Amino acid sequence: EVSRGDVQTCTWWRAPVIWEGMFDAALYDQTHAKEGSSVALTVFAVGRYLDAYLETFLTSAECHFMLALPVTYYVFTDAPEKVPQVALGPRRSLKVIRVPKHSRWQDVSMMRMKAISDAIESDIRHRCTHVFCLDVDQEFTGRFGPEALGESVALLHAYYYNLPKWLFTYDHNPGSRAHMDTGDFYYHAAVFGGSWRSVKALTESCYQGITEDKRNGVEARWHDESHLNKYFWLHKPSRVLSPEYCWDRQIGDRKAIRVARLQWAPKHYNTLRQA
Ligand code: UDP
Ligand code: MN
Repeated sequence: EVSRGDVQTCTWWRAPVIWEGMFDAALYDQTHAKEGSSVALTVFAVGRYLDAYLETFLTSAECHFMLALPVTYYVFTDAPEKVPQVALGPRRSLKVIRVPKHSRWQDVSMMRMKAISDAIESDIRHRCTHVFCLDVDQEFTGRFGPEALGESVALLHAYYYNLPKWLFTYDHNPGSRAHMDTGDFYYHAAVFGGSWRSVKALTESCYQGITEDKRNGVEARWHDESHLNKYFWLHKPSRVLSPEYCWDRQIGDRKAIRVARLQWAPKHYNTLRQA
């Protein structure tokens, strides 16, 4: 087994942290293909996010995401007629699911948890072994393969992976279900996944937390991401992805990051988040 001496490759509960140079890509492709793994990739493109990001997201996923396995894209949108026609490879397909357009972007983001859990129950669990849930405002630029698959998968946030814990932006309000004083890592909600059972449990639990907070008139500091961090603190992920799996080029070059597999797209919040 090849290894990396310059980065943390294992958590204290013995989950691997996946970095370039640690794994045999071809072996992961073969093993998962033989085991019959198949992947649902959920992505939301509501309001202006559809025109701004969806086509690049899908086109780049066709070049880099789980090329060795059957993949079904689940595109959640308020405008199904505007979903771009993207040429898909064999054993790859796309389903569109209509969702309401909440007026606050925070609600669009948080309500993903409910929509994903519903789709797993009604459809995904009959077709796919694994689920990955991604933000749409990103572009694949390198291999994102079955080495990322596991029972329960979390991603190290690119801005926090090498910072001390006291800087992690957890929710510190005791009135929120997402409240936590300390944790293991700061995980990024732009990428999470696992077996369909695990992702169903995760999305249901986060949605419950969000609903309870709404009843109590509170909102967690970073919305669904705060609830996700709380969940992964209580239910340790079995696999952790390095920031290679969601890098922001604005951070600049870092020696540890040998490949950027998925990258943040430029953000234009002023126009994107207008009602
Ligand atoms: N989203 C959307 N329409 C919106 C707001 C959010 O489709 O009006 C979806 C989209 O997939 C986006 C994700 O929710 O990538 C999270 O929102 P955003 O990327 O703005 O959050 P950030 O990455 O800034 O935390
Ligand atoms: Mn995003």
